[in-house]
Amino acid sequence: MTRLLGSTPDLAIDLGTANTVIYVRGQGVVVSEPSVVAVDQASGDVHAVGEEAKHMIGRTPASISAVRPLRHGVIADFEVTEQMLRHFLRRVHRSRFAHPRLVLCAPSGITDVERRALVEASGAAGAGPVALIEEPLAAAIGSALPIAEPGATMIVDVGGGTSEVAVISLGGIVCSESLRIGGYDFDEAIGEHLRVAHGITAGTEAAERLKIAIGSACPLEEETSIEVRGRHLESGLPAAVRVSSQEVRAALAAPLASIVQAIKSTLEITPPELAGDLTTRGIHLAGGGSLLRGFGELVTAETGMDAALVAEPLTCVAAGAGESLEDFETVLRATRSWRTRQRDSLRRAR
Ligand code: ADP
Ligand code: MG
Repeated sequence: MTRLLGSTPDLAIDLGTANTVIYVRGQGVVVSEPSVVAVDQASGDVHAVGEEAKHMIGRTPASISAVRPLRHGVIADFEVTEQMLRHFLRRVHRSRFAHPRLVLCAPSGITDVERRALVEASGAAGAGPVALIEEPLAAAIGSALPIAEPGATMIVDVGGGTSEVAVISLGGIVCSESLRIGGYDFDEAIGEHLRVAHGITAGTEAAERLKIAIGSACPLEEETSIEVRGRHLESGLPAAVRVSSQEVRAALAAPLASIVQAIKSTLEITPPELAGDLTTRGIHLAGGGSLLRGFGELVTAETGMDAALVAEPLTCVAAGAGESLEDFETVLRATRSWRTRQRDSLRRAR
């Protein structure tokens, strides 16, 4: 099919558990907003989407609920996901009649059913033909890593609800681990610590702010503390406590250990020829969760390999998927053979 110049431009979408990032061919990344929708309970109408809806979490009147339609990288609420996509698509395409070709990013560990749900939700939201690309592959392309070569590249992408570890060579994933733990689990661990050690409950947004403000994976040069507001568990009254960076780090130790373990087990199943490359090329860290202070340092301490953040940890997945639009038919074909590839890589891993 020939496409008229100036007609609907192609799109790439990184539909993350935490953030949705949209790339328009010829323009680059144009939308980067929280994957949150505020829905009117009575009518089912969408009240707000993205940044505006995120501010409503935990603060909405009873008639409106602010929800995250994705959990651990997959669709938890089909209808709300569709509405969110429709809203974002409309924001980049003025015309309701446009059905853009779309490359959608997906965690490499998702099932057939989950994959089909992603394609169907995009179609229902107004997309034309939809191709899927594995997130670690997109992250590597978007970070301009030399993945087409025979040498190995390792990507670790820590998102809101998932972490993906993948070794890529000759343009494909050789082995990978997908784990349903991410930045939200860090927030939850902090919330649990506040309850147990300080006797207060704070919302998940407050726990996330605490993590970003003073959270770390390794000892800091200057340890600090900040005041956190919440509700006292016993009295039920508003309360404030002082929390130190050391105790936040201790709270994060368990979810961090799971991610480090996934990196180690991926290294264990990496073919020896490729493992050698990794010792010289190091590990590339992507995703918002990798922004935690000292995360790279922890990975290096635990694996003995260099670990460094990619240039754009939050948008590299969408940018890489965007680049793959240049060869849409190839991505579409690869989408159809995804299941076979998944089976093959499992067999190789055994
Ligand atoms: P997803 O791809 O799942 O949508 P992202 O890659 O956008 O996720 O990352 C979102 C996660 O990154 C959230 O859990 C957020 O709290 C976390 N995050 C963002 N910035 C920072 C930071 N500076 N320090 C620690 N965590 C961060
Ligand atoms: Mg992501």
